[in-house]
Amino acid sequence: MTPAVFAVLDLDAARHNLSKVRSCAPTASIMAVVKANGYGHGLLRMAEALKNADAFAVARVDEGIELRKAGFNQRVVILEGFSNAEELDDVLFYHLEVVVHSLTQLVILESKTASDLCVVWLKLDTGMSRLGLTENEFALAYQRLTRCAAVKQPFNLMTHFANADDIYDNKTLKQISLFNETVAGLSGECSLANSAGVLGWETSLSDWVRPGIMLYGISPFPGSTGQQLGLKPVMTLQSRLIAVKQLNVDDTVGYGGSWTCSKPTVLGVVSIGYGDGYPRHAKVGTPVLVNCRRVQLIGRVSMDMITVDLGPGAYDKVGDPVTLWGDGLPIEEVAQYADTIPYALVCGITQRVRLIVRE
Ligand SMILES: *Cc1c(COP(=O)(O)O)cnc(C)c1O
Repeated sequence: MTPAVFAVLDLDAARHNLSKVRSCAPTASIMAVVKANGYGHGLLRMAEALKNADAFAVARVDEGIELRKAGFNQRVVILEGFSNAEELDDVLFYHLEVVVHSLTQLVILESKTASDLCVVWLKLDTGMSRLGLTENEFALAYQRLTRCAAVKQPFNLMTHFANADDIYDNKTLKQISLFNETVAGLSGECSLANSAGVLGWETSLSDWVRPGIMLYGISPFPGSTGQQLGLKPVMTLQSRLIAVKQLNVDDTVGYGGSWTCSKPTVLGVVSIGYGDGYPRHAKVGTPVLVNCRRVQLIGRVSMDMITVDLGPGAYDKVGDPVTLWGDGLPIEEVAQYADTIPYALVCGITQRVRLIVRE
């Protein structure tokens, strides 16, 4: 039995997107970012599809452990690093690699013996003001790490961009320069670029790139689609019509009666709602594909259902296929109508949406 709501995952598309990263950054190694359950696509499934990457990156230690327990023995970088000694023990036990972004972490590392060698990515804050050491702290931290018995030498160096998705913002160039000046003459491999860096900032490519969203076929840039960048969507969110009815002038639709019918039309009810991760704030007019035809969302998004205007005289019937985003309907467009970003849409898919791999 096909479930009413499911997300079809095209793993060939993921492999295609990985090859797109390779062609954008032919000399760089690739750290495929699969945090947050592979951006909602399933951690293990995406790791399997992207196993030819040079390393994986996840946000948290438990995500790294999950990869290890499933048998992935590639390099795995924990982007948030560890935040206490117990987490560092897990990092060492499971041979994970860690971002070191604070002096607190440094002190914990210094208390470890030489028997457990840890691969470290020392992070400089070049303007994001989230994780990372300041320029002033960096030189001292570098020296201390060099003398740290538990750290594999030479360790790696990294930073993260705050605004790389705006290709007109000079801030990224300033971040690149500050990083390059700070690490000049130091040994260790370097990493700066996220997806926006890979696609928009050639001078950021360096030794390692860290693409996330582009691997899922989604554009990191507002106002463009993955397809326009040569990417293919991995996730297509699908459902079906569960009711079709005639609407007459002055009928109101949905909770709050916020949409009023001004000319007779046919209403379609689709089984998808915010309980599935469809954005509750999707506005009237958000595109939806019914039988491969674009129609518009009307009324409010409910927990389990949305309503669409099928148009006067529409022939659609109960059971007909509906696409909410993905193949044929760019998620970037849907995100814009919902005042959100595509990252949040794919990550927000809930447990009850069955993920199905397209063979
Ligand atoms: C999430 C993340 C990435 C990937 O970012 P995308 O915009 O999805 O490509 C890269 N580096 C760090 C530190 C991250 O947290």
